[in-house]
Amino acid sequence: MSTPTKINLDESEIPTRWYNVVADLPEPPPPPLHPGTHQPATGDDFAALFPKALIEQEMSAERYIDIPGDVLDVYRLWRPSPLFRAHRLEKLLDTPARIYYKYEGVSPAGSHKPNTAVPQVWYNAQEGIRKLTTETGAGQWGSSLAFACAQFGLECEIWQVAASYRAKPYRRTMMEIWGGQVHPSPSDVTDYGKQLLAQDPDHPGSLGIAISEAVAEAVEDPTIRYALGSVLNHVLLHQTIIGEEALLQLAKVDETPDILVGCTGGGSNFGGLAFPFLREKLAGNMNPTIRCVEPAACPTLTQGEYRYDFGDTAGLTPLMKMHTLGASFIPEPIHAGGLRYHGMAPLVSHIYELDLVEAISIPQTECFKGALQFARSEGIVPAPEPTHAIAAAIREALACKQSGEERVILTALCGHGHLDLASYATFLAGEMQDLELSETTLREAMQNVPIIES
Ligand SMILES: *Cc1c(COP(=O)(O)O)cnc(C)c1O
Repeated sequence: MSTPTKINLDESEIPTRWYNVVADLPEPPPPPLHPGTHQPATGDDFAALFPKALIEQEMSAERYIDIPGDVLDVYRLWRPSPLFRAHRLEKLLDTPARIYYKYEGVSPAGSHKPNTAVPQVWYNAQEGIRKLTTETGAGQWGSSLAFACAQFGLECEIWQVAASYRAKPYRRTMMEIWGGQVHPSPSDVTDYGKQLLAQDPDHPGSLGIAISEAVAEAVEDPTIRYALGSVLNHVLLHQTIIGEEALLQLAKVDETPDILVGCTGGGSNFGGLAFPFLREKLAGNMNPTIRCVEPAACPTLTQGEYRYDFGDTAGLTPLMKMHTLGASFIPEPIHAGGLRYHGMAPLVSHIYELDLVEAISIPQTECFKGALQFARSEGIVPAPEPTHAIAAAIREALACKQSGEERVILTALCGHGHLDLASYATFLAGEMQDLELSETTLREAMQNVPIIES
């Protein structure tokens, strides 16, 4: 009997705990450092930015953390999310491989980001916070946070990277529908933004700059805090609901993955899918190859250095040990805006250093070519970010065609591309180009990374 196309879980089967991979790693990840003293950061160093409960999760080594009931109630608006067997894509590729994808585009914001936005807002609400500030690139995170703030009655102020603010007006409308207030970044609202605009009134902005602006606003007022949509341990923790559900779904059809591929911007959808499978791998229950896929124009893991760097451009955040291209690095304007971040999650960086996962980079035209094959067979139009994961899955499926191996490939389709159609229009018109990274650009940004005495 062949596998069904859509493998669903009942609402009652929704996992009720997040999984913290730190508990099972052979070595703990290096701690964040205070930006001034370079000593290991304490909870107090984060207190102006995040609520206590999230700081505890950030530093926790507990294996499982219960999902609060109010958060589960909101999750139920779209969770459990479906796992699909890509029968039609397999047929198109004429591959003996079996391809599965976990689809996160069913959330209200159309991506995996509400999985962490909802708990982040809830914990802030518990501690009496009135407003959250944040940054957004393509607008996925900003719209997810605005949605979550609307659920729990918080205000939401968002700095959107100027290039995206101009190129993606509909994301801004979504943020405003959910009550968010949106500024282009650099903005004339913060001192740092004003300084950058004075140098260049058409500054395209970057995620690092937008983070600096959102953080600057939050630290000035004790009733305002900041929220980050990727990179941090607590964000990856919340996203593990993806992998926990996928494990249950694959068990229903009696499958275990031979290879798991995921796109990595800051590492949260990847970590969310991969960490529960890594737990099973470390426990000897399965043995999948686990592979990160990043854009050739922002190859953080494959070409960045593993060292302490700031999360933002102005140097306001604690220093994190991660693969980085340099906090002042401004990536080429590739279509996958969510993958244009200079750093990689410290947890993903750490497990990459431990050789528990692999990484490759793929240029965007190959990704969009794969996305068209996917859309024309499976129907769903992927967001530009997961086209990287799809291209990697297709490479793997074609290798199976060559070798005749029936491998099981698992990936996350972490968002749909309904608000990214301009990127598809560019590709369909034959006007998309591959933007590689020059050695000079790489070296320049790395020169500003602080030197830490160990
Ligand atoms: C934000 C975003 C990403 C990149 O962030 P990760 O933390 O690496 O997951 C990828 N895909 C989509 C759809 C996004 O919205």
